[in-house]
Amino acid sequence: MYAYTSSKSLFERAQQSIPGGVNSPVRAFKSVGGTPVFVAKAKGAYLYDEDGQKYIDYIASWGPMILGHAYQPVISAIQKKAEDSTSFGAPTLLEIEMAELIKSMAPNVDLIRMVNSGTEACMSAIRLARGYTGRNKFIKFEGCYHGHADMFLVKAGSGLATFNIQTVPGVTAGNAQDTLTAPYNDLAAVAQLVAEHKDEVAAIIIEPVAGNMGCILPQEGFIEGLRALCTREGILLIFDEVMTGFRMAPGGAQEVLGVDADLVCYGKVIGAGMPVGAFGGKKAIMEHIAPLGNVYQAGTLSGNPLAMAAGIALLKELQARPETYKELEEKTLYLRDGLNKVLSASGLDYVINQKGSMISVHFSAHPVTDFATAAAADTAFFNRFFHEMLQRGIYLPPSAFESWFLNNALSYADLDETIAAAQSSLAAILGK
Ligand SMILES: *Cc1c(COP(=O)(O)O)cnc(C)c1O
Repeated sequence: MYAYTSSKSLFERAQQSIPGGVNSPVRAFKSVGGTPVFVAKAKGAYLYDEDGQKYIDYIASWGPMILGHAYQPVISAIQKKAEDSTSFGAPTLLEIEMAELIKSMAPNVDLIRMVNSGTEACMSAIRLARGYTGRNKFIKFEGCYHGHADMFLVKAGSGLATFNIQTVPGVTAGNAQDTLTAPYNDLAAVAQLVAEHKDEVAAIIIEPVAGNMGCILPQEGFIEGLRALCTREGILLIFDEVMTGFRMAPGGAQEVLGVDADLVCYGKVIGAGMPVGAFGGKKAIMEHIAPLGNVYQAGTLSGNPLAMAAGIALLKELQARPETYKELEEKTLYLRDGLNKVLSASGLDYVINQKGSMISVHFSAHPVTDFATAAAADTAFFNRFFHEMLQRGIYLPPSAFESWFLNNALSYADLDETIAAAQSSLAAILGK
């Protein structure tokens, strides 16, 4: 039995000085209940908590640790660079290297601007789309998360779905009224919104493979349909690849789906665990960003040398070994097949969605294709499953509305252990 003695006392202490004891809501375990695990360190595929207990990690810091924790080339790059000071607020060679590296990996990126988070990347891309098109409204999808900027906190999946937050106090009606929403995978609904708001829509922003309502795949023709609609109506198509960028493939979801975006947002993997985001796209659009144009966007620590050194080290490894993506997918399929066996034997209704190294389990009798179907699944059962898995040393995301992320440090023995843990977790819950 895992005990969380240190985590419990640290959580008590944290709550005295940090709201809810955490610096990002999903970490609080509020929806699954219990005490959040305080992490002391991690190496490869494993997390170690403050009680010295080991876990197989399926969060990977929500994506960045795609090659495992404390990956040596990344750690060395940070250590080496730190000797040269931690920030200058002036241009560096590293920023050019990062931009060139991204351009060599991702399609449709002529110019790229570094920021400090995925949130910043998405909010800046929307500002740019509005500045470029001279239109105010944009369309997002129910259950897609694009960071915590005001205009995105409308039907925003992820933590908001976890906590059942419908409207966010502090977001003005004025801000929310320019955010139009449609169900994921519903092209007709999008076409109708565009028709109702003719020449008012600046952009459609989407997670091309959604990961903030569990993992949800775009159906055949959906993304292609959005692309055609955007081209016809002069709307910019923004891919929020904060999760999928450099995870689905070197060129992200654009490469895997074979659809071109006008603007792309990155985060997570791009910083190898440092606070980094980026947005980029075609020259004709990106030229509107200051100092070239007058769409203002800035950041004191943007392009920070330690963050660039870490990100470059990781991206170079991914570029040098494209077979990484095949290995990751094979491991994910192995996990999927193992979970399928165990879950079907249990007699439970369930759905496994998977794409590349993203996977999630919904306890549902129906296909999970959008937020409504994800929300209709048995999240209470997921929460029990989560805790049983945690007790067996398997660290899943603490919410049914989050994708699991595999990292390539996972061994097949780790996957076998995870599948066995799922079997005994289900047996424990079902009393078999
Ligand atoms: C995590 C995430 C963001 C926000 O990134 P932060 O670095 O947390 O600000 C935006 N979009 C998607 C798709 C994400 O998964």
